[in-house]
Amino acid sequence: MSWYAGVEAGGTKFNCIVASDPNIILDEIRIPTTTPQETLPRVIDFIKAVENKHGIHIEAIGLGFFGPICLDQNLPTYGFITSTPKLAWRNTPVVSYFQKELNIPVAFDTDVAAAALGEGAWGNATNCSDFIYVTIGTGIGGGIISNGHPLHGMVHPEIGHMFIPHDRLLDPFEGICPFHRDCFEGLASGPSINARWGKPAEGLPADHPAWQLESNYIAYALANLALSFSPQRIILGGGVMKTPGLIDLVREKTVRFLNGYIQNELILSRVNTFIQSPGLGDRAGVLGAIALAKTQE
Ligand SMILES: [Zn+2]
Repeated sequence: MSWYAGVEAGGTKFNCIVASDPNIILDEIRIPTTTPQETLPRVIDFIKAVENKHGIHIEAIGLGFFGPICLDQNLPTYGFITSTPKLAWRNTPVVSYFQKELNIPVAFDTDVAAAALGEGAWGNATNCSDFIYVTIGTGIGGGIISNGHPLHGMVHPEIGHMFIPHDRLLDPFEGICPFHRDCFEGLASGPSINARWGKPAEGLPADHPAWQLESNYIAYALANLALSFSPQRIILGGGVMKTPGLIDLVREKTVRFLNGYIQNELILSRVNTFIQSPGLGDRAGVLGAIALAKTQE
């Protein structure tokens, strides 16, 4: 049996796991995100302790990280966290650190690309070559899988900051993104809902006008993604998407906004298949880090 380590590195915690696949998990731990000097050695200690306890050798590690990160192997900054607002983590060489400490192959990508790979391997996007994982929570982000591989390009996609129609008569709220104000994340993230209505998403009842607005913004974004990348599936995760009924509003409006332009049965009659919740639930990211590690085989 082959063993892999996975790390889902987020703004508040690192979820670390040693597993072969989602059904064969050896150990897991959560480590608070403080500073690289404190957090990264604790990840190494966990992995080495699991290896010693079980007498196993880990083949590769997958790192799904908050960003922005550098994924261009031709640059000297490959494997770094780059311009993150978390100052302690800015310009941290993550990949070289893990290579030096563990001496095994290190796969590195965004947390959302890892989650997408997890959904492709074991979740609700199996048998899809082209699909998108979108998370709507504290922030908004997305991993785009194109022809089976995460799309990187110039840097990596940052779909949370796409611009979407903002009707200021319907929604005078100016948005909270420090870079763009009323981009997708600025209008539709959990903190944006909280700032607009004075209550967190989970405190707003199902018939609150917040959800018509929220589903508009998400559906515009999904229509843009469908038109731009032609995915076979869009997986919608994150805390805000746990709101009962929200995904149904998003499905209905995405189809309505596209207005028959994409003539495919996935849009026209199978939108419940086209837009889905994560099959791995909240575990998409950490299990996705295992899927990411397996790309090193
Ligand atoms: Zn923005």
